[in-house]
Amino acid sequence: MRTLALSAVLCLGLAFPGLAQQLMGNRSCATNTYVEAMQAQHPSLGQEQQRVQQAVQQKLQQQRQWQNLRVATTITIPVVFHVLYSDEAENISDEQILSQLEVLNADFRRRNADAGNTPAHFAPYAADTRIEFCLAIIDPNGDPTTGITRTQTYRTEFDYAYDYIKKAENGGTNAWDTNRYLNIWVGNVKDKVLGYASMPGTTLPRLDGVVLHYTAVGAAPANKFGSEYNLGRTATHEVGHWLGLSHIWGDDDASCSDSDGISDTPNQKYYTTDCEGGIRISCDNGPYGDMYQNYMDYSFDACMNLFTHGQAAYMNAVISTSRSGLLSSLACSASIRSDFGMVREADSLVVAGESIQFAAASEGVRATEWLWEFEGGVPTTSTQENPVVTYPRPGKYSVKLTVRNGSTSDTEVKEGFVHVTVSDLTVFPNPTSDYLYIEQPARIRVRHVELINSLGKTVLTAETRHRTLQLDVQHLPSGVYFLRLTSTNGTEIRRISIVR
Ligand SMILES: [Zn+2]
Repeated sequence: MRTLALSAVLCLGLAFPGLAQQLMGNRSCATNTYVEAMQAQHPSLGQEQQRVQQAVQQKLQQQRQWQNLRVATTITIPVVFHVLYSDEAENISDEQILSQLEVLNADFRRRNADAGNTPAHFAPYAADTRIEFCLAIIDPNGDPTTGITRTQTYRTEFDYAYDYIKKAENGGTNAWDTNRYLNIWVGNVKDKVLGYASMPGTTLPRLDGVVLHYTAVGAAPANKFGSEYNLGRTATHEVGHWLGLSHIWGDDDASCSDSDGISDTPNQKYYTTDCEGGIRISCDNGPYGDMYQNYMDYSFDACMNLFTHGQAAYMNAVISTSRSGLLSSLACSASIRSDFGMVREADSLVVAGESIQFAAASEGVRATEWLWEFEGGVPTTSTQENPVVTYPRPGKYSVKLTVRNGSTSDTEVKEGFVHVTVSDLTVFPNPTSDYLYIEQPARIRVRHVELINSLGKTVLTAETRHRTLQLDVQHLPSGVYFLRLTSTNGTEIRRISIVR
């Protein structure tokens, strides 16, 4: 198990000078420092991250049990690039962004042209992760998009400590629904930081995603910046973090006691800063030494060429747990999915005669037509987006909504979605001979029921768990009784007759 320094209480001022030192002459990925700073600002995130890691470990265990039955499926993650620029150089070309998408797809599917550079002794570990990426074609409003937003900003650089690149009010661009899209922000990140990512569960949802320095996006020749990081591997590395991977040497530098939590990566002491080649032994990891060809090291882009099977399994487990919203995203499909709710959530339980306003909430392409069907309602159908419906009689009713845009349409039915109750607390029949029924209206909850005889003695008590309570009074003698009802409305007493 990987142990992050969850307890580290770092203030921003302390957290970041350390980074500047670490960044001297290497890849300068700010993910660890970013994650620690987020947790310092939002202490609950430490617990959230632990919860995510537990879910991932459970998933991995299930996968090991089911290994022989598992059908390998390919997952496609919808991506949106948000370009922030203060001059033309920063406003990188579509071509550069498309080349980045190509690199991500090649690296994650092990179709990278340099896969052959993986040394023979590490080749058996190299994995096709079966994760792919597509540029979004539908934006969160359901409108067509190129999957690239471009925003001119007054900021000449973005400090990752403040995440302003993700905040429109601070000169950045707001995320698109982070459950449905991988948001990749591109800009002039301060301190020559090449990139950083939020690991699962380590950040606020609206700040979730990957940030890349504009010079590190995509591969040459589309990337014209000529550094050692111009083959698009910064994104491969940062998306690896975003899908839960740690640095291959563990989180502490210069230590053999920490781990990246992945069983098929060698234990490794330091990060690798260059591209020298050969075998480098650390932490007794001979005969083959450090796996500095791994995307989660700090090597130059040209020297990275693999994820391992363990890393692939971990990322897939993250997608099927804490990032599972991506699996049902329609952002790359141009189709529509019907869904709906109520304007006020409490309206699923109403008193007969009351009205409910429904709210269409379809996903994917923007709906242009709605056809509602309301069992038990008035009206029984509607073509409005958010119709108001009255329910005259008690009962449980289904609601059906078909949404359409041109030739694409979808229907959702929710059985028993509306529960209409009597309008007053009702006790019946009275007089009775065998059973007494107590029916509660919406928004009143009867907690306790007591039947008292004419001598003032309690002869029957009950706790209520349902809207309608049945009391068996067959064993009681005829006579006058008093029913004491204790509810969220207070206490009331009804006079009851039992006759035989
Ligand atoms: Zn990193």
